[in-house]
Amino acid sequence: MGLIDDVSEGRVAMTEHAVVIAGGGPTGMMLAAELALAKVDVAVVERRPDHELIGSRAGGFHARTIEVLDQRGVADRFLAEGQTVQAATFGTAVLDMSDFPTRHPYTLGIGQNQFERIMAEWIAELPVHIYYGRQVTGFAQDDSGVDVRLSDDEPLRAQYLVGCDSGRSLIRKAAGIEFPGWDATRSNLIAEVELTEEPPQGLHHDAAGTHGFRQMEDGRTFGIVTTEQQVGPNSEPTLGDLSAALIAAFGSDFGVHDPTWISRFTDMTRQAASYREGRVLLAGDAAHVHYPVGGQGLSLGVQDAVNLGWKLAQVVKGSSSQSLLDSYTAERHPVGARALRYTMALAALQRRDDRVQALVDVVSEVASMDEPRKHLGGIHSGLDIHYDLGEGHPLLGRRIPDLDLIAAEGPLRVFELLHDARPLLLDLGQPGDIDITRWADRVKLIDVAYDGEWELPVLGAVSPPTAVLIRPDGYVAWVGDGTDAGLGDALATWFGPPTAA
Ligand SMILES: Cc1cc2nc3c(=O)[nH]c(=O)nc-3n(C[C@H](O)[C@H](O)[C@H](O)COP(=O)(O)OP(=O)(O)OC[C@H]3O[C@@H](n4cnc5c(N)ncnc54)[C@H](O)[C@@H]3O)c2cc1C
Repeated sequence: MGLIDDVSEGRVAMTEHAVVIAGGGPTGMMLAAELALAKVDVAVVERRPDHELIGSRAGGFHARTIEVLDQRGVADRFLAEGQTVQAATFGTAVLDMSDFPTRHPYTLGIGQNQFERIMAEWIAELPVHIYYGRQVTGFAQDDSGVDVRLSDDEPLRAQYLVGCDSGRSLIRKAAGIEFPGWDATRSNLIAEVELTEEPPQGLHHDAAGTHGFRQMEDGRTFGIVTTEQQVGPNSEPTLGDLSAALIAAFGSDFGVHDPTWISRFTDMTRQAASYREGRVLLAGDAAHVHYPVGGQGLSLGVQDAVNLGWKLAQVVKGSSSQSLLDSYTAERHPVGARALRYTMALAALQRRDDRVQALVDVVSEVASMDEPRKHLGGIHSGLDIHYDLGEGHPLLGRRIPDLDLIAAEGPLRVFELLHDARPLLLDLGQPGDIDITRWADRVKLIDVAYDGEWELPVLGAVSPPTAVLIRPDGYVAWVGDGTDAGLGDALATWFGPPTAA
């Protein structure tokens, strides 16, 4: 953190950070963690007074996100507070992933409020500077940085600004980034309320969509989700709206009263045309919105952050050029687009008149078969994500499995080697047969042995490599087949030019 004092040109003194993140939700906090691990001066501006989340949003996240947290050594904090379940479904088929080759072949059921509290505790340890209770109200970018305007008139200066500021992102709009997609065709009310009559517990489907009731732990409050008959207005929903929606669906509002909170969400599905405009980037809901069915949003945002964090850190530190940031949109936009398409399919299967029910029956039968289950499970969990890094070994562009390795100092897991978010070269061949001296300041080289099978989710067994170059996000950037052909190019592409000989 530094202070710029340029009163002579009429500019007020402003605090400077290398990176400012607008929004301290799941995405903003994960990105802050990644940058802090890379020793980048990062600050988060969050309009809430603290990390407390009013109301409920995400109820869990999937295997690849658990792995990503495991890569940083913090997955256990989340696992300790949640419940592991086979919660992924397609139609009525459960996409059971318990046979997937991962240490975490399940969904973790955990509230977003718990997720955000655990994240906030973690990033406080790193540490990350958070400006709570302030909003980003605008920005101006120039060739060397971004002036960030805050609601309390205390400006900030940063080399880069990242908008992690929700689907209504001010940063996206102010940057002029297009947000094409599909308008809402359906809206839901979600609420915590008291009822005087017993509702039908569990999930219900009808031609409008899904409705559900869940009794909370206090035995008095009910969590309700109901689909409205028509798309509701863009204003805050009222108890009257909730009552009307329940009566339309069930013929009764069950004596709904005393709401703790009521909120509305829709199936609006949109994606930012680009995730970057100069020195301004987008991640998480700011870059893509979709119906929450399938629980994809939080995972997408966290993984956007993990893809962007190390790249931005290298650019800020000067070890890579700005063009490395182009790979962020190139890699994450297709993953987001696929999630949008997948959630639209899941959402269509929720509307159950007799004709759609017939479709649900057929696709559910197919989804229960082994290959389709694995294919859909790979998408749902994010374990099959494949960044297009060119032709080559199947590992190239895919996540490195968390293998049990033997190193000189004893047994260790691959993910343990990623805790500090640094690039890693695993030499699985003859010790000393790979030389990366000219990248040794950036890339950790470790001689290891592994004699088990190399198995990838969905794809199955692949041929064992003799070495693998792993990016800090856990994706494989180069695969050795007995020689070091192509290694220098991969190192230069991802981690910058070699130091002088
Ligand atoms: C009902 C519901 C259920 C869901 N269930 C799931 C699920 O089970 N699994 C899943 O993965 N996802 C789920 N989601 C989606 C998930 O909640 C979002 O995708 C996730 O919160 C996105 O995180 P984010 O950090 O990108 O954005 P947000 O969580 O929206 O965080 C944005 C943050 O930015 C702050 N902010 C906004 N504007 C400004 C500004 N100008 N200046 C400063 N701060 C600002 C906000 O206060 C907020 O804290 C669900 C969503 C809903 C609505």
